[in-house]
Amino acid sequence: MKYVKKICRVCGSEFFVLKNVEEKAFYCTLECLGKAQIASGKFLEERIGGEI
Ligand SMILES: [Zn+2]
Repeated sequence: MKYVKKICRVCGSEFFVLKNVEEKAFYCTLECLGKAQIASGKFLEERIGGEI
């Protein structure tokens, strides 16, 4: 199995993922994934709210 080093989009720390999931892995932990999802959900909500 080959690992690739990535930089977390939320906290900026380095982490390693398997090469075959590299394209889907953007966050170091589930906590960071959760934060990113909350942030994007909030963004969408605000946009939709603004358009109505
Ligand atoms: Zn992170």
